[in-house]
Amino acid sequence: MRPADTLTDHLRLMESQKAALRKLKIETVRDLLFHLPFRYEESGQEAAIAGLVPGAEATILGTLEKLQTKKSWKRRIPVSEGIIKDATGKIKVMWFNQPYIAKMWRVGTFVKAVGKVTGSAGKLYLANPHLERVSPTEAGMFAPRKNSTERKNPTEKSGLPGRVGARTGDPRTFLGDSSAKDFFAQYPESRGVTSLWFRHAIEKVLSKSILQQVEDPIPLDLLKKYNLPTLRTALVWVHTPKELKQAEAARKRFAFEEVFLIQVERGRQRLEAARAQSFAVDAPPDAIQGFVSAFPFDATKAQHRAIDAILNDMKSGHPMSRLLEGDVGSGKTAVAATATYAAVRTKPQGQNFGTLQVAYMAPTEILAKQHFESFIQYFTNFPINIGLITGSGCYKFPSKIRRLAGGAQATTISRPQLLKWVQNGEIPVLIGTHALIQKSVKFKHLALVVIDEQHRFGTNQRRKLARKETRMPHLLSMTATPIPRTLALTLYGDLDLTLLDEMPPGRKQIITETVATNAREKAYEKIRQELKAGRQAYIICPRIDEPDPQKAFALMAKSVKEEAKRLKKDIFPEYLIEILHSKMKSKDKDEVMQKFLAHEIDILVATSIVEVGVNVPNATLIMIEGAERFGLSQLHQLRGRVVRSTHQAYCFLVPESKGEKTAARLKALTTAKNGFELAEQDLLQRGPGELAGRAQWGISDIGMEALKNLKLVEAARTEALELIKKDEGLVKHPLLADAISARTEALHFE
Ligand code: ADP
Ligand code: MG
Repeated sequence: MRPADTLTDHLRLMESQKAALRKLKIETVRDLLFHLPFRYEESGQEAAIAGLVPGAEATILGTLEKLQTKKSWKRRIPVSEGIIKDATGKIKVMWFNQPYIAKMWRVGTFVKAVGKVTGSAGKLYLANPHLERVSPTEAGMFAPRKNSTERKNPTEKSGLPGRVGARTGDPRTFLGDSSAKDFFAQYPESRGVTSLWFRHAIEKVLSKSILQQVEDPIPLDLLKKYNLPTLRTALVWVHTPKELKQAEAARKRFAFEEVFLIQVERGRQRLEAARAQSFAVDAPPDAIQGFVSAFPFDATKAQHRAIDAILNDMKSGHPMSRLLEGDVGSGKTAVAATATYAAVRTKPQGQNFGTLQVAYMAPTEILAKQHFESFIQYFTNFPINIGLITGSGCYKFPSKIRRLAGGAQATTISRPQLLKWVQNGEIPVLIGTHALIQKSVKFKHLALVVIDEQHRFGTNQRRKLARKETRMPHLLSMTATPIPRTLALTLYGDLDLTLLDEMPPGRKQIITETVATNAREKAYEKIRQELKAGRQAYIICPRIDEPDPQKAFALMAKSVKEEAKRLKKDIFPEYLIEILHSKMKSKDKDEVMQKFLAHEIDILVATSIVEVGVNVPNATLIMIEGAERFGLSQLHQLRGRVVRSTHQAYCFLVPESKGEKTAARLKALTTAKNGFELAEQDLLQRGPGELAGRAQWGISDIGMEALKNLKLVEAARTEALELIKKDEGLVKHPLLADAISARTEALHFE
């Protein structure tokens, strides 16, 4: 067996399992070995059914009985139900809104069920339990122990709810077995490949010979220095730990590895950029001052600082790589416009040198258009041609004609004409979507690339735009996604960071309120008032439609489709309501956004997709359903959608649960100073999964976990920089070079 062998060479797989593995991107033996568990269950953690108490999160083992589908009369939703029986008793199990579960499982199957014990004594049931098939051999381990009194009371060790008592004869007797393995790895699953399947499959491939074939990309001296296990040891420990310490050490190693690989890569990019040549952008200071003082407002101190840092970077003949991070509304566009102005005002040395050029890229067509319009404003008294290129058309804002006519409109022009003028330098500023990085777009002297809301893609896109340039353009990457320091250090290890940590004065604070479920009517009343006054509203739901069959826990959340129907029918029949979610075609999404912008829609019911970007100043109210399901920083960004207005804006948070914890957490939204503070809180309180925008970062769960650990991130960074200082080409570290290119390829492939 070799790590590169496909799994089908060694394991017998059903079609459904092959499909599931494909979905998890597991093809080879190697992929399987690197499919890491996300948690461990101690054997014997299971509780006896007779001992269950309401409110506890319980794990039970037993046989499935009486499966059926019903309609709940109260809520008119389909319910799957059944019974689980063990040696001590029976309990009802119910899954709301998941009728297929009753059909997916067979009566008589021995299962492990994890779920919340709900209801009152005598009428207990397990709500939406997660089921896992347990094989007869594994089931055998859970037979009641004969001499369980000899065992130490297990609650001393874990204190887990639903795990009670250890006396023989007591119906709450602890079920378990100490002779077997102590920890069961739990893996990310997909239909047909359960954690149990993974444990068996990995046991089959995790042999000495296969371990000898996996080589460690991390230099041994580093592992020793930080007391981390080698790759071989870590693989054994992570899949089959003898104690939790081993699993932790292994995870720490994988986390270090991931952060280290990213840091080495980013560090090399930084060195490469530092060596490259670029246009020295050096506009006369009084010209810059003239531009900034022509703003229709006074720039904030933070904006001045950012402008200074950027101009300073661009003076040298080497490319700037800077990230400008600032909350929605902090005024990034003005900073970008000033950087742009500096570039086009620069007169490079040499004869016949036209104007330097700037490319400004936005993630969506609507945003690109908005930037185009803002730039026209910022450049009112500074005559230059500004072009706009998107998938659906091209525009040009003419400097000269406009001046003669005293204020002209932007005009459509043909794509070939636009491209010609960009190529010969007549259009110095080109704004656009991804259409900007198509091969056909060629610049004459591209000096600066500005990228708005593109997260980690910044440097790659600069590369694409720079393809034909002999000089590398400066890069200004801008984001409103608040991220914690550790993440910024890692993800943007190749960029210098500037924070716009100050809001323009005089902004109205958004009134943020938590709405109790029974006060919903009042909130609708307020929405109606706003709509009557001619405003618009967003209503955000956690889901698109039917719950995902794989996620039994994620039930009951409101869905965009259902909620929109309900609002149309029962609450706001007199208003225009439309939906927006990620599964729509991007053309349809753009269309809906355009309509919302044009006020042809009153209420937009959407998923968190509206988080990034579009500015609809007339929308003054956002209501967020299932608010506790979102991270604080994500809520903050959603709320940012209504920050643009000069009218008073409102944000209503409607949590599903009434808990005090939820209330306390949501309260942070009214007390925190800015998005960065909220991002730090998310990371520490709820873990990295909560951070907004994470899907685009290409960091695994383990890697993200590492970001809670500033020391680890800093160590990885220091060591990475140290290593490339001595061996930038990674000539002495071929395994490391391979690991990095494998990582990069995987990312590009996605
Ligand atoms: P961002 O892109 O950072 O979310 P924008 O650049 O779109 O923010 O600016 C948001 C709004 O604030 C715009 O209408 C802009 O004209 C205005 N603005 C920017 N800077 C200032 C300032 N210093 N004072 C007052 N208003 C400002
Ligand atoms: Mg912006």
